Amino acid sequence: MQHLNDQKLLKHASYINGCWHYCVNEIAILNPATGEEIAKVCNAGVTETELAIQSAKKALKAWSAKSANERSTLLRNWFDLMMANQDDLGRILTSEQGKPLAEAKGEVAYGASFIEWFAEEGKRIYGDTIPASSGDKRIVVIKQPIGVVAAITPWNFPNAMIARKAAAALAAGCTFVVRPATQTPLSALAMAELAERAGIPAGVFNVVVGDDARGMGKILTEHKDIAKFTFTGSTEVGKSLISQCATTVKKVSMELGGNAPFIVFDDADIDAAVAGALVSKYRNAGQTCVCTNRILVQENVLAEFTEKFIEAVKALSIGNGLDEDVTVGPMITAQAVKEVRKLIDESISQGAELTFGDYDLSIGENFLAPIVLSKVTNDMPVAHYEIFGPVAPIISFQDESEAITIANDTEFGLAAYFYSRDIGRVWRVAEGLDFGMVGINEGLISNAAAPFGGMKQSGNGREGSKYGLDDYLEIKYLCMGGLDK
Ligand code: NAP
Repeated sequence: MQHLNDQKLLKHASYINGCWHYCVNEIAILNPATGEEIAKVCNAGVTETELAIQSAKKALKAWSAKSANERSTLLRNWFDLMMANQDDLGRILTSEQGKPLAEAKGEVAYGASFIEWFAEEGKRIYGDTIPASSGDKRIVVIKQPIGVVAAITPWNFPNAMIARKAAAALAAGCTFVVRPATQTPLSALAMAELAERAGIPAGVFNVVVGDDARGMGKILTEHKDIAKFTFTGSTEVGKSLISQCATTVKKVSMELGGNAPFIVFDDADIDAAVAGALVSKYRNAGQTCVCTNRILVQENVLAEFTEKFIEAVKALSIGNGLDEDVTVGPMITAQAVKEVRKLIDESISQGAELTFGDYDLSIGENFLAPIVLSKVTNDMPVAHYEIFGPVAPIISFQDESEAITIANDTEFGLAAYFYSRDIGRVWRVAEGLDFGMVGINEGLISNAAAPFGGMKQSGNGREGSKYGLDDYLEIKYLCMGGLDK
C-alpha cells in the first residue's frame, strides 16, 4: 500500500507481548473495491493466541497496580497518536474495508474518542459505603479490574469496534487480547503500533491475526485465564460463543445484529427525516449494525417522503472509497452482494416493488447500487432479516400503535429511529420501542459519552459512557466487623 505518510503503520504480523510475531503462512488482504492485494499478514493460530493470553496474564499485575492517573496518561497518548495519524489510519481502513475515506477518517476519530473518554472515566471508578446492620460493622464496596479480557471483532468497523472495547478494559486496569476479523487486520495492527509508541507496556494490548476463527475463538472463550469475553458480530456466532463461555462462567458482553426501524410520522419535518434516513441507511454501504433496516412511513406522508428520499438517494455516488466524492463504497465481498440480492429477489417475488436503483450495476462484483423498495411488508425477507447492504425497504402504516407494533416485531433490539414533532408522541413512542438506543429526530446517534448496546437478541452490556466500565470491573463487598471498643 502506498501513499501513507508513515509507512511503519502498515504491519504484517500479530502483536504479542510488545513484539511482532512473524510466521511462514500468510493471509492476503484484499481491497474490496478493486480486488487488489494490499498486504500480506502472517497467519497466526491457536499457539500464538495462547501466547497472547499468557502475556496479558503476566502484564496484568503491573498494569492493574498503576494508578488511574498513570493509565489515563498512557491512554491519552494513544488517543493523541491516533488523531495525529488519522489520515494514514483512514487510508489503511478504506483500503482493507472499502468505506469512503471521509467515513474511514470519521471512524478513526470515533474510535479514538472512546480512548479519550475512558482515559478520563477511569479516574472515576468509585466505590460505596453502605449503612451496616449493626454498629460494630462497616460495609464498603470497592471495584477492581476483572482481569484478562478477550475480544473478537468484525470487519465493518475495524478500528472503532476494537477501540470501544480496549479503551474501557485498559482504563479499568485489565489487559487485553483481540482477534480482529480475518479480512481487516491492518487497522488493528496499526493501532497496536501506536499503542506501543504511546508507551502502553508490553502484554497490555495484544492483537492476534489469523484465519482460524473457530480454533482461536474456542481458546479465547474457554481459557481459564480469561475473566471476560467481549464480542461484536452476528447474533448467530454470538450465541455459540456465549455457550462456549459458559464452560468457565465468564463475564460476557455481546454487541450483535440489529434490525433498526426508522419511523416517519405525519407530523415529522419530512426534509429532516429524509436526511436522517439517508445517513442512517447508506453509511458504510448499509453495513452497520445500527443501519436503518426498515423505513416505516405514515400513509398520508408516504408519497411525499418517498419522492424526496429517492431524490436524495440519486445524489449518492458509488465507487472506490479512495476516490474523491464517492459516498457509497463496495460491499465487503461478492458473496455479501449475492446474499443481499437474494433478500431483494425474494421480497420482490412476494410483492415488493423496486422503486429506485440500478439493480444490475456493473462496476464490479463487490458493488451493489443504493436501492429503494416500496410496498414492503414486515414479513418479507428484506424486513425480517438484517440486510447489511444499501437497500431501503419502505413499509407504510396507519397510526402510532401500528407503527410501534411493526417496529417491535423483530427478534432484534439494537437501534431504532423516529421523526415526530409532537411532544406527547415523542415520549410514548420512545418508551414503547423495545430497543437499546433510540434516535429521536436524529439518524446518527453513537458517541463515546452515550451507552451503546442492545436488548433482546442484539446482545447485552454497554460500550461507551459511564456505564461502559462496569463490564470490565468486579464489585467486591468488604464487611468490616469487630469495631466495638
Ligand atoms: P460474524 O460472522 O459474526 O464475524 C464477526 C467476528 O467473529 C469475525 O472476527 C469472525 O472471524 C469471527 N467469527 C466468525 N465465526 C466464528 C466462530 N465460530 N468462532 C469464533 N469467531 C468467529 O459477523 P460479521 O458478518 O463479520 O459482522 C457483521 C455482524 O456484526 C452483523 O450482524 C452486525 O450487525 C454485527 N455488528 C454489531 C455491532 C454492535 O455493536 N452491535 C457492531 C458492528 C457489527 P472471521 O473474520 O475470520 O470470519
